[in-house]
Amino acid sequence: LVGEGRGTVRRLQTSAHRRTVMPAWVIDKYGSNEVLRFTKNANFPIINYPNEVIVKVHAAALNPLDVSMRGGYGAATFHMMRDPLNIKQTGSEFPLILGRDVSGVIMECGLNVTYYRPGDEVWAAIPPWKQGSLAEFVVLSGNEVSHKPRTMDHLQAAAIPYVAATAWSALVTTGGLTKDNCPKKRILIIGASGGVGTFAIQMVKAWGAHVTAVCSQNAEGLVRGLGADHVVDYTAGPPEDQLKALDKFDLILDNVGGGTEKWALDLLRSWSGAKYITMVTPFLRNTDALGIADGMMRTGVTVATKMFKHLSQGRHYRWGFFAPSGRALDEVAEMVDAGQIRPIVEHQFSFAQVPQAFQQLERGHARGKTVVNVL
Ligand code: NDP
Repeated sequence: LVGEGRGTVRRLQTSAHRRTVMPAWVIDKYGSNEVLRFTKNANFPIINYPNEVIVKVHAAALNPLDVSMRGGYGAATFHMMRDPLNIKQTGSEFPLILGRDVSGVIMECGLNVTYYRPGDEVWAAIPPWKQGSLAEFVVLSGNEVSHKPRTMDHLQAAAIPYVAATAWSALVTTGGLTKDNCPKKRILIIGASGGVGTFAIQMVKAWGAHVTAVCSQNAEGLVRGLGADHVVDYTAGPPEDQLKALDKFDLILDNVGGGTEKWALDLLRSWSGAKYITMVTPFLRNTDALGIADGMMRTGVTVATKMFKHLSQGRHYRWGFFAPSGRALDEVAEMVDAGQIRPIVEHQFSFAQVPQAFQQLERGHARGKTVVNVL
């Protein structure tokens, strides 16, 4: 049965595609690590829209969001994204597959997909409202996918898409950075040693910025190796004391949040378009606690209040969010192949060890990424 257009179903034709089930790690309810369940009978993904592709997953990676989502974080918002008309029952997302990074090979293309062909090696960051990459196959929109860098294998490539798409959205879309306006800009990255931080350092260094990194003492070698010009050890005392003595910054990327907001904005140049962008926002927590309408209202009031307060002091306060973008990944792939960005793989697990990979992530103190060999 081959449908045409939105909402129709393409029954898959090749031998691999005649299957209706696949191996995957799923959760059937929210909770701690014991809710992770391996099954050989997860639903095989189907192409529902003509711009979609099915990717055979070779490698996946975990992000802090996976641990949070396993516990139910963001459930209200992601439910709305999956089912905007709110037709389906509560719990219709289960069995849910986590995993936001994929590197793999295109197996099947929707009727309108011209940019990819079966056999192409691709990578992607998967939006959190879609089924994830801890499975043998995943279905994605063509515009979320990008050709994987030629110079990396799948395990290395899986370490990059979600943090790259997040850093790109925060620094380029929200922060207004480009490779042309970056040289000479002073950029402060708080929480520099994790997934987003290690990517962001490399990206803005490749574009010529001056980077100050805030991290633990034992991450100094890592972040300097990625190009950080100045490193502040937050474990040696309040980082703001050391940072205050430095020249002011044009942009701050905050991957830590919480108390940092109290002092970080004072480190920005005033009345020069300087921006503070935090990745740690109450948006999903608000919608989980208050529902979509009230949660969004609370979020809007909170962010608007902070934006106006800081604008009156000549600096910009912003929230950064992950945004899926195959185009951004195309540019990142070029930077990777040009030797400007390398993967920072801290831990590697087999597909059978997915629960251990989650445990590893939950321990915190990441130094780059935790990847999973799915193939
Ligand atoms: P990681 O867990 O990979 O990295 C966090 C890093 O921060 C670790 O290296 C940790 O090491 C370090 N750290 C912790 N406390 C401090 C501190 N006080 N000062 C400096 N460094 C510190 O997380 P990610 O990089 O993947 O993500 C960063 C944050 O951004 C997370 O909170 C994540 O949820 C959020 N995020 C938000 C997104 C959005 O759409 N809004 C998208 C992606 C991420 P150590 O403890 O050893 O110092």
